[in-house]
Amino acid sequence: MTIIDEGRPRNAVTREVHGFLTRDGITPRELRRIAKEEISAYPSVSFGAGTAVAVTGTDGQFQIETAQGQIFAAKKILFAVGMKDEPLDIPGLEEVYGKSAFVCPYCDGWELREQSLVVINKGAELMHFAPLISGWTNRFTVCTNGPDELTDAEREEFRRNRVSLYDSPILHIDSSDGIVQQVVLEDGTIVPCTGIFFKPELVTGSKLPRTIGCQITEWGTVVVDDFGKTNVPGIYSAGDAASRTHQAVAAASMGAFVAAVINNELNTKAWRKNL
Ligand SMILES: Cc1cc2nc3c(=O)[nH]c(=O)nc-3n(C[C@H](O)[C@H](O)[C@H](O)COP(=O)(O)OP(=O)(O)OC[C@H]3O[C@@H](n4cnc5c(N)ncnc54)[C@H](O)[C@@H]3O)c2cc1C
Repeated sequence: MTIIDEGRPRNAVTREVHGFLTRDGITPRELRRIAKEEISAYPSVSFGAGTAVAVTGTDGQFQIETAQGQIFAAKKILFAVGMKDEPLDIPGLEEVYGKSAFVCPYCDGWELREQSLVVINKGAELMHFAPLISGWTNRFTVCTNGPDELTDAEREEFRRNRVSLYDSPILHIDSSDGIVQQVVLEDGTIVPCTGIFFKPELVTGSKLPRTIGCQITEWGTVVVDDFGKTNVPGIYSAGDAASRTHQAVAAASMGAFVAAVINNELNTKAWRKNL
């Protein structure tokens, strides 16, 4: 088995991985280092550093080419290419992203509990996001960064929960050493806070699954069945790239399961050949 990895995981911007039992608080870099060290103990696995840029062939006879000019042959392919966040175009957000501005309350909500937060979102997702965040703090303010897309009934939910909604565009975010201090709006409003949750645009980690003919969902993930199989025979997908549950432990679990599915198929095929 060959692992081709260009080494740009989605959580590279953040300082700690949370919610990965036995590794809570570890840096993303250290988690990957340990994973690589443990995998390296198995001589049947090799690493091909680089970016896969082309996949050709069919089930049992694939070829993968990297930008660095290497060519690998494979009977099966597992795309664990992740998803990428396209951060919002707000001055100052990049400085705090992954340090005090996060995308997932289940990853970083505990660390920001009971703090004054700003939630940046404007539409239907806000109605999912706001109740979630209220489980960790009731001191949060919503900045919709332009006119909101809420119904009157939805605005009423915020009023009843005493959560302020500001719809003036965000001018900039002030911070110190990655920790947000305040969000400044165009109309002059200043919202002091120590953390931010926002919803970035998510795009697939690689165009390769689409290029080889894999079906893609409307939210950009690869369509797979319960066994991680795509519609293209011999091609599988796991992790963020093939799921709406975006957490490291869930990605690892799905990857382990789909790897077993592939291994089982290869062993069964080899076994039947001898009949
Ligand atoms: C700010 C932030 C904080 C987060 N915090 C947490 C947290 O605390 N806890 C948690 O559980 N989750 C957290 N997550 C989510 C977590 O990062 C993802 O769920 C997890 O990384 C998914 O793992 P994956 O292996 O599917 O994808 P990734 O970790 O993104 O790995 C995909 C890999 O594939 C490589 N790749 C892609 N295309 C190619 C190609 N063509 N050729 C070669 N290599 C390629 C990439 O470079 C990358 O190394 C966070 C995410 C963000 C953005």
